Amino acid sequence: MAPSVQPSPAQRSAPRTNIGIIGGGQLAWMMGPAAQKLGLSLQIQTPSDSDPAVAIATQTHLGAIQDVAVTQALAEQCEVITFENEFVDLTALEALHQSGTYFAPALSSLQPLLDKFDQRGYLQGQNIPVPEFIALESVAEGDRSTWQNPLGFPVVLKARRLGYDGQGTSVIKTAEELKTVLEREGFDPFLLEAFVPFERELAIMAARSSSGEIVTYPVVETKQENQVCAWVLAPADVSNEIQKEVKAIAQRILTGLNFVGILGVELFQTGNQVQVNEIAPRTHNSGHYSLDACVTSQFEQQLRAVSDRPLGSADLTVPATVMVNLLGYESARSDYTEKRQQLSALPNAHLYWYGKAESRPGRKLGHVTLNLTSTEPTAQRQEAEKAIAAVNQIWPTA
Ligand code: ADP
Repeated sequence: MAPSVQPSPAQRSAPRTNIGIIGGGQLAWMMGPAAQKLGLSLQIQTPSDSDPAVAIATQTHLGAIQDVAVTQALAEQCEVITFENEFVDLTALEALHQSGTYFAPALSSLQPLLDKFDQRGYLQGQNIPVPEFIALESVAEGDRSTWQNPLGFPVVLKARRLGYDGQGTSVIKTAEELKTVLEREGFDPFLLEAFVPFERELAIMAARSSSGEIVTYPVVETKQENQVCAWVLAPADVSNEIQKEVKAIAQRILTGLNFVGILGVELFQTGNQVQVNEIAPRTHNSGHYSLDACVTSQFEQQLRAVSDRPLGSADLTVPATVMVNLLGYESARSDYTEKRQQLSALPNAHLYWYGKAESRPGRKLGHVTLNLTSTEPTAQRQEAEKAIAAVNQIWPTA
């Protein structure tokens, strides 16, 4: 059966209730309670029946994220297809779009984002500040006897596609190291980027509905260790000017892409300047705190946007909050019952355990959000540091 032709949002009289999600990891799993609240049914496309979101899905379509035949089966039963994982095959999905499947965000909104080189170029074209970058070909064509590059060292080497949680990103300190890595990995799939000696990393979640309404969440500080997010503090202690600029950047990105849904923007802050590091076109780790600290969680917001419901308020309901990722620190098959009990017993703690069958070093197994009571930024920071230390006493860092 061919996918049914869906009317455009403007023609619709009622919101959508059958939502299809490409991806069945923790990001889809955390949509479960919001879907129930809004009376929505969620169907997912995911490779394994042990993936986290299988537990909350009305129906699971087993298959690889890039398997368009599985997406077609999903589309036949859903009124909208959205993404928890953007590593899709856009060219193959285009045929479904042509035959009437409604994607939110649209495939054309995702097009400039999936390759990091294209994404940088897109942002630069929109006059949004980004670190200096070059395609690797320019080094390949240059003098390979010296392995110098126009950006100097250290330099950041990034896989253009499919990188996540720092996999595919490495800081290269010398020409010799660049030579070794490139001779091992080949050239084509990489870009080189100036190393930014940032003071802090910031992030923001922002959502846009099909009618063009935009809601921005607070600007947060994120801390990466070994290129993986360790914790997120909301709100970030930044000036009003920086807050305004980050929100304006998020709004410009949403509008420029004609984006429907939620996205995360990661940035580097150096003094009064910000540069965009990355756009994640979906719910994001830096917005998990919203589950326990905002009027509308990022997961509910995403479902509201893609189902044509009015967006909710993104205001904080607490003075501040800190989210700590629980990353695997060993290879094991354990459900860590005792540690989970200890984490849940911390003051104002909300624990999310993703139910993954296996732990591996660096794998995101869960997170814990600890709401803070201090109202002044310096005190919030101190309280956050204590809360992070308390988590790390129970849950070792990788
Ligand atoms: P991923 O897409 O895998 O999350 P990112 O490109 O976001 O990878 O990089 C992960 C982390 O690596 C960033 O959060 C930051 O800490 C560091 N990083 C990335 N690019 C740069 C850069 N140009 N300069 C300095 N640090 C960087």
